[in-house]
Amino acid sequence: MKKMRKYFDVEIETMSRDQLEALQVRRLKTQLKRCYQDSEFYKEKFKKVGVKPEDVRSLDDLVHLPFVTKTELRDEQLAFPPFGRHTVAPPEAWAELHPSSGTTGAPVNNLWSFEDVKNISNWTARTMWTFGVRPGDIIQNGFSYGLWVAGMSTHYAARELGCFIVPIGASMTERQIDYLINPGSTVLLCTPSYALHIAERLKQRGISPEDIPLRIGCFGGEGGAEVPATREKIEKGLGIEAFDYFGLAEIGPTVASECPEKRGIHWVEDHLLLEVIQQETKKPCEPGEIGVLVITHLTKEATPMIRYWTNDLATLDKAKCKCGRTHARSVGGILGRADDMIILKGAKFYPVQVEKVVRSFCELSDEFCIELTTDPEMGTDMCTVVVECLKEDDVSKMRPLLRNGLKEECQVTPEIKFVPFNTLERTTFKAKRIMDKRQKKGPD
Ligand SMILES: [Zn+2]
Repeated sequence: MKKMRKYFDVEIETMSRDQLEALQVRRLKTQLKRCYQDSEFYKEKFKKVGVKPEDVRSLDDLVHLPFVTKTELRDEQLAFPPFGRHTVAPPEAWAELHPSSGTTGAPVNNLWSFEDVKNISNWTARTMWTFGVRPGDIIQNGFSYGLWVAGMSTHYAARELGCFIVPIGASMTERQIDYLINPGSTVLLCTPSYALHIAERLKQRGISPEDIPLRIGCFGGEGGAEVPATREKIEKGLGIEAFDYFGLAEIGPTVASECPEKRGIHWVEDHLLLEVIQQETKKPCEPGEIGVLVITHLTKEATPMIRYWTNDLATLDKAKCKCGRTHARSVGGILGRADDMIILKGAKFYPVQVEKVVRSFCELSDEFCIELTTDPEMGTDMCTVVVECLKEDDVSKMRPLLRNGLKEECQVTPEIKFVPFNTLERTTFKAKRIMDKRQKKGPD
C-alpha cells in the first residue's frame, strides 16, 4: 500500500555507495561536457586551469576544477546581464526565476528550467516523505512564496504527494494559528525562528499543543532545528516532532533533510555532488572534519553550478544511515556560515554556539542578538550577547550562569546585556543575529 511504504524512491535512496558514485560520475561527465560546450563562463574557467571535461574521469578528479563563488556570479551578471554566461539552457527552456535573498549584496539571479522544476518537485517530495509526510496530510506551508526557493518547491511537492495544502506563506501569524485549529494542519513548514514565534503566540492565545492535530514540523531557511535546545522548544511549544531542512538559492531548495533517525541531514546525492573543503588551504577535509560545503549540480539544466563555494560550514558522513538510506549526511546540519565567524580575543565562535547556550535556559526567551562594537579607548573589537530575561527578578541569578555557559561553549566570555521580554525583533523569515556596529577601519 502506497501510504505505508517506507521510502519514496527505494531504488535511488538505498542504492549501494558504488552504484551511487557510478551514477554521479556519469551525470558529472555529461554536465561538464555541456557546460564546456555551451557556456563561455565555464569554458574560460576550465581553460585557465588547463582542464578539459574528458580529464575528469572519477570523482577524485573534481579537485582539479576551480571553485565558483557568489562574488564571481555577481560580477558575471553585471558584465553579462541579466543572467550571466553560466546560463546553459536556452531561453525557451526557462521556467522560473529565483534570485538569492540579497542579504549579502546584490541578489544573484538563478533560473529553473521546466526540467529543473520537475526534478526539484520530485526531490522535494522525496525529502518530505523522508521526514514523514504522507498522502492525506494537511500541509501548512509557512515558507515564503514568490522569489524565495522554498515556498514554491514545497508547494509543488505537496501536490506531487497528494496532500491538501494551506499556501499561507511566511506571514499572518494569527491566521497561521487559526489554520492549525481549522482545518487542522498536520504538517508545518517554516523557518525555526518563525516556528518559535508561532509557538509563543499559540501559548498567548491559551491554546494547548494537544488541542491541535499538528504532528510534524520541518524547519529550514536558517540553522536551529538541529540545535537540541531549539528543537526541544519547538517540539514542546507545538506538540510535534521537528526536523531540519536545508537548501540555498544557487543550488536549490530542500536539497537535504533529516530522516526519523535524526542523524544529520541526508543530501539528494543523485542530483548533487558534495565536498567539504578546508576554509584556508582549500583542500578536501578529512572525514568528520568541519569545512565549507562545496556543491556541484549533476542534473541542473538552466544555471548549473560546478564546485559552488557555499560558505556554509558542515561535515559529511558517507556511512549508511540506520534508516537504510545510503545518501551522505551532514551531522548536526549546517554548523554556521564561514563569514559569520566571530573572532574575540583570539577565540573563534559562531552564532549557532551562542544559540545553543541561550536556549538551554528556560528563564530566557528564544530571541538573542550578538552586538559587535569597537572599544572606544582600546580600539579593539567588543562582543555583547543581548538576551531577554522572562522575569526581571532572574537577571542577577542568570548573569553568572549565562557567562559560564558561553565561556564553556565559545572558549571566551562576551559581555552580556539583559533586556525586557519582547524587546528584540521577532521575525517571520530569517533572524538576523549579528549586529555589526564596529567602526570601519581605514586602509592599512
Ligand atoms: Zn537516515
